[in-house]
Amino acid sequence: MRRLAALCLLTIVTPAAAQQRDFSNVEIKVEQVAPGVAVLFGQGGNIGVSYGEDGNVIIDDQFAPLVPKILAAVKTLDPDPVRFVINTHWHGDHTGGNEALGGQGSVIVAQDNVRKRMSVDNISKRFNMTVKASPKTALPVITFDQGVTFHLNGDTLQVVHVANAHTDGDALIYWQKANVLHAGDTFFHKATFPFIDLESGGSVDGMVAAGKRGLELVRPGGKVIPGHGPVATREEYAAYLAMLEDVRAKVAAGIQAGRTKEQIVASKPAAPYLATTQEGFIKADDFVGAVYESLRAAR
Ligand SMILES: [Zn+2]
Repeated sequence: MRRLAALCLLTIVTPAAAQQRDFSNVEIKVEQVAPGVAVLFGQGGNIGVSYGEDGNVIIDDQFAPLVPKILAAVKTLDPDPVRFVINTHWHGDHTGGNEALGGQGSVIVAQDNVRKRMSVDNISKRFNMTVKASPKTALPVITFDQGVTFHLNGDTLQVVHVANAHTDGDALIYWQKANVLHAGDTFFHKATFPFIDLESGGSVDGMVAAGKRGLELVRPGGKVIPGHGPVATREEYAAYLAMLEDVRAKVAAGIQAGRTKEQIVASKPAAPYLATTQEGFIKADDFVGAVYESLRAAR
């Protein structure tokens, strides 16, 4: 549990601080999800891989010091270089490898707001820190507004922007043939309660909308790769969406009844989910507080 908390804190550390951490014991584990589709687990956001005759595509790239291990893991699937990197959003535990990968010729692709946020210093009042602007080679060179589609490795990868969910630059990536979705940090599975980054343009209503959009994409029998935690079934993903909607409704009812944030948090609306969700980087109360702040801001 302590290990998980420390690991999840990396979500918000600066690239410089990440460099100082010791990643030497981190192992990159490869899990097959479908033919031509794998997920890499290491430290930071889960990495999706599309591999096959047209070259490797990876979705997110964790932290800079892990890039050699990530590339070695990709090589066990296919010896070709990484042709494209798609970022699900701008957070450093999903984009930390961009500079090294961009520098060796991978084309980095992300939603417009990912490049915007990575291009400037981001000040977080909540975490009392500044995430410095990224160097040019770490920035996405192809950006999109609503989405983009990749036709390779015998599949069609649909990249779909979902607005103001975990951040303002989230993308869902869906393999149409393999029926696999990488949901980025719009989906936290078991490892922690959801993190809604309000300071990066996130909102609870956007998280709910992202879950609905993702469920429209995945057909029955499909798999969903979360930003953090183990690969989920479509049913588990649907249960997560129901949890988001349930907690949102309870918090909204509390606001309607004139209760304060403290009273609503104390009423423990997320308590039923403690059995299936760990209190990782985001505790149940943190999540409820963020839902409250998000709904108040929307009024
Ligand atoms: Zn994130």
